[in-house]
Formats: sequence, C-alpha cells, structure tokens
Amino acid sequence: MRTAKVILSILGMLGVSSVAQRAASQATGQAPARRKGIAIVASTVLDGKGGVLRDKRIMVEGGIITAIEGKAYWEGAPVDYDLRGLTLLPGWIDAHVHITWIFGKDGKNAGTVGTTQEDAYKAASNAWVTLMAGFTTVQSVGAANDIPLRDAIAKGILAGPRILTAVEPLFGQGEKTGTPEEIRAFVRKQKEAGADVIKIFASQSIRQGGGMTLSQEQLNAACDEGRKQGLRTLVHAYKDAVRAATLAGCSEVEHGTLATDDDLKLMAEKGTYLDPQAGLIIENYLLHKEQYIGTPGYTAEGFAAMEKILPMNHELVQRAAKTPGLKIVFGTDAVAGAHGRNAEEFIDRVQDGGVEPMAAMVSANSLGAEAVGMADQIGRIAPGLQADIIALDGDPLKDITAVRRVVFVMKGGAVYKNVARRAIPVYARLQP
Ligand SMILES: [Zn+2]
Repeated sequence: MRTAKVILSILGMLGVSSVAQRAASQATGQAPARRKGIAIVASTVLDGKGGVLRDKRIMVEGGIITAIEGKAYWEGAPVDYDLRGLTLLPGWIDAHVHITWIFGKDGKNAGTVGTTQEDAYKAASNAWVTLMAGFTTVQSVGAANDIPLRDAIAKGILAGPRILTAVEPLFGQGEKTGTPEEIRAFVRKQKEAGADVIKIFASQSIRQGGGMTLSQEQLNAACDEGRKQGLRTLVHAYKDAVRAATLAGCSEVEHGTLATDDDLKLMAEKGTYLDPQAGLIIENYLLHKEQYIGTPGYTAEGFAAMEKILPMNHELVQRAAKTPGLKIVFGTDAVAGAHGRNAEEFIDRVQDGGVEPMAAMVSANSLGAEAVGMADQIGRIAPGLQADIIALDGDPLKDITAVRRVVFVMKGGAVYKNVARRAIPVYARLQP
C-alpha cells in the first residue's frame, strides 16, 4: 500500500503521464485526452505548510492526490472541477471539539451524554455541519458516544469529518483521582475502549479559578502511560498546570490561559503543542447564555467570569504567537451552538490574537496533522496524501473572513459540497 503510494507520488511529481499526453496532443494538434481520475484546476492553492501554488491541476484517484501539475501540462484538457478564482487548501483539522455535545429537547445544554435516537441525530447533524464548514478531520475530547459516530462516518454510513476521540477523559480530582497505578490503568482502559488520544483535566474550569487538580506525580503517570500505549495526551490546563503538563512530557496543552512567558518558552523547547482559544468558545457561551445557564457547571458567576476571561485569552494568543518555535495548533473547543461555526476561531485568532493569516491556516493544516499524528496522510495538498480539499470564495490571506465562505468540500476524494461552479466566470475558457 505504502509502496504504491510512493510510486504514485513519484509519478505525480514527475508528471510522467502528462508529458506523454502533451507530446501526443502536440503531434495531433488536438486537446489532451481525459486522464484517469478526477481533475481539479485552481488558480490559487495554499499547500498547507505555508506555500502558495498558482495555476495547478490537482489529480485525484482512489481518494488520494496523485499529481499536482503546472498549466503547461493540462491547458485545454477536460476538467471535472474548475475552481479557478477560489482559494484551495487542505481540509481543516480542528484539534478540539466535543462532537456529540448538543442542546436537549428543552433547548438547554445537554452536554455529551445523550443516548436517545434524537440525541444521535443531533450528533450526526453536528458532524455534517462541521464537514460543510470545511473541517475534514476533528479530534473529539471526548465522550463514549463519539465512538459510534466516528465509526459510522469511517464506514461511510454518515457524512462527517474523520473523528479521533479520547472516549472518556481523566478528570483530575486531587487525591481522589487515584494512585499513579490506578491512573495508568485508566489510560489503558480508554485504549481498550478504542481511544485515539487521551484527554486529561489537570485544572479546574477557568470559571472556578483554574487551580490544579492533579499532582505532578499523577500527571507524570498519565502522560507516561499514554506514551507507552502509543497514544498522545491532551491536557486541559491553566496557569501552573501548563508547566506541570509540559514537564510531564504530555503532547499538547489545551486552553493554556494564564501561562507565563517562561511556560510558553518551555513548551517551545520541549515541543509541546499549544491549543489556545481566542474567542469562539466564550463568544458561543455568551451567545447561547440562556441555554447554558443553570445547567451543570454554568452559573451566573461563571458567566460573569467569562467576560473577563475573553481578553485574557486574546492576550495569551498574542504572547504565544510571539514565542519563537512554539507550535500552536487550531482547536475551537466546539460545544453545542458552535458546531459548524468552527472557522470563526480563525477570525478571532487573526483579529484579536495577532496571528498571521497564513500561520492560522497552517495551524489547521500541516501543523494540525502533525499534532494528531497524521502528517503522512492529511494536512497538505501533495501527491500521496488523502484528497481532503476545500475551496474558499475569497483569499484568507487578505481577508480572514473568507474562512466563512467554504464553497467546496472534498474529503478522501468524495465531494460533499460544491456550490462554486456558478461563481467561476472563467469556466467556459476550459472548453476545448
Ligand atoms: Zn473542551
């Protein structure tokens, strides 16, 4: 499988078949014949790792990108999707969602514990709107009911993003959490249940002050066991817990509010990923205040605190963006009300967090793929990778709000959304 991929990608890079095709068309004076696979042409392609490609044809076969070719190879050839005038980029990766988090029958926050048929439909809808918003992979952190949704999407029964899940998170509760041995056993239990990643709560909610809920020794055990089991460890951490998680060798810090400059520097040195939230999560709570307030964990005091936390989060992202070598990934913490609006976080990061638009895109592409351990499969537009390709009506490098205008979504070579065609004035030019 891997060998086949490598050969395909080498052929793609050499543009072997195209060269032959072009020679043939020059000899006969006719347009090149249709090539095998799906042909997409684009005027602007963000490659997912910070580069911009111009005037390319992307060939897709068997769900995989097989070639990226310059104009000389394809001009005049038949095309399946003419996406010129749009900005193409790899499908986004959201490192932190709660895909099964819904509002219940009464319209109030129902969390992630729903098990009825109606709850399942709502979770499926969350997955659908997330995919339509351009997110082709999400990491859900986590709930046991992520598993049937993950598996249904993987089997092609439902349309949605690829889901990675933590199943049940480890909730730090001080001594009560358990001994290091018990914590290790919990990590192994999640692996047996089908977890792709381990989620650990090492701090209270920031609405309650954000104090540490696991000792250094407990964190060390959790993240070390994750490593032994081949699973990454994501730690919900504020303030002191950020340093503790970094020292414990955990993979990624979620939120990170009130981390010091020294903490951020240490994370950069140790290669710990940071997944901060610049706006969407709190904006979503404020927008849906009536639906959250009074449900477990959401008090009037908590809501008052949120108004103060928002500028603290902006400030964290601003400092993080300036920390050399710090790997900042894209994660929204999407809960009920935020699914399908994940891309708003890009706008918050750029406008309020001082993140460069290209860095914001890469954080949800190649860097996001690296952080979820899938850099060889997703996150870039390159031969040999999964054909996860989206198109925006606009250029996010010039106007970050273009992330709201996802007009084309391909995941694994299947097109789930294509509302672009009428908007492309140059389509007729491709007709031979
Ligand atoms: Zn979360």
